[in-house]
Amino acid sequence: QQEIAPQSRNDERRVLSHLSVLEGAPPLSENWSLFDSNDALFTEARQAQAATVIFALSSNSQVESVARQIHALRRQRGSAMKIIVRESQGSVRATDERLLLGCGANIVIPWNAPLSRCLTLIESVQGQTFSRQVPQEIAILLESMQPLKLRGYQPWETFCDSVGALMNNTLLPKDGKGVLVALRPVPGIRIEQALTLCRPPRAGDIVTLGENRLVLFLSFCRIPDLDTALKHIFPLPVADIFSNRMVWYEDAQIAAEIVQMRAMQPEKWSKPLKMTADAAPVASQRHDDNARRRVPTLITLLSEPEGEPR
Ligand code: C2E
Ligand code: C2E
Repeated sequence: QQEIAPQSRNDERRVLSHLSVLEGAPPLSENWSLFDSNDALFTEARQAQAATVIFALSSNSQVESVARQIHALRRQRGSAMKIIVRESQGSVRATDERLLLGCGANIVIPWNAPLSRCLTLIESVQGQTFSRQVPQEIAILLESMQPLKLRGYQPWETFCDSVGALMNNTLLPKDGKGVLVALRPVPGIRIEQALTLCRPPRAGDIVTLGENRLVLFLSFCRIPDLDTALKHIFPLPVADIFSNRMVWYEDAQIAAEIVQMRAMQPEKWSKPLKMTADAAPVASQRHDDNARRRVPTLITLLSEPEGEPR
């Protein structure tokens, strides 16, 4: 079997790294070069072939620029380079991680991995050749991170059209597009009233009402994270507002449910109370999962603006 000539690997042992990766420690050997910014690192890496290049990610606002640098390196320098991203403060979204990997990073090292583990992970990619396809245009990858430009309440048809289109979007990961949840309120609460408690903070999370159910689509949320997301969306424990929940998270299941939803007679659609339309974000929301008690806020469930039918 004929071997394909390997890409030049002269600089295979070199490690070009953002300074912060070593957390104040000196370079580990003469092979290491440290840079005080990702831009300086990128400039040097443009001359490299098979070196290890380690970017630092200290905030989510850097994701796009680091993604662009990784994309350029991978497309221009080839598959022998080992490209690593080290998260340094708090986690970024799984969609950000997917973007960085899609642009050509070999690995993203999470913020909570201590330095010793980080060094082991850097070692683990040595000798690797990057084998995934990286699209020529980064725009395709960027676009696939934020496909739904909507948030909050949507009329039934808009909701079905948006989620239906998302399921047919082949740029998005199979069975990783989000979670569809239908919630039925406890006796005594109407869905229109339950909607006043539903304030999705994240763009891409949409909700509609029909057949005495509140139906939510949570973009890119993964099924084990559903309760975390619902806690961010409702200021009260979900079990206090809803007595029944149905969940769909695979593409085929979601698409089938959307077909059923589309078939529903318009008489069964419900409209939100007028007050919901211009509601402010949930005041009592605290994104601190350790805090079991939430800050009490006065919520009026049963009052309706004058003229609203009961
Ligand atoms: P977390 O807050 O514990 O959320 C864990 C996962 O729950 C998220 O993973 C996401 O899949 C889901 N999730 C939580 N809240 C929502 C929501 O409002 N809508 C939807 N659709 N899903 C939600 P993900 O996206 O990988 O994020 C990982 C971690 O990154 C989050 O953990 C949080 O610590 C941080 N994070 C992500 N986005 C933001 C943000 O916009 N603001 C802040 N402050 N932190 C964020
Ligand atoms: P957005 O996606 O519309 O999210 C709006 C707000 O929802 C966030 O405000 C945060 O308070 C809450 N939120 C959304 N998802 C999560 C989550 O998973 N966990 C937690 N704990 N809170 C969440 P924030 O933090 O001020 O962010 C404002 C905007 O900045 C976000 O708007 C988003 O466009 C961007 N952003 C923030 N963190 C991340 C991130 O880790 N990755 C990406 N791609 N964008 C982020």
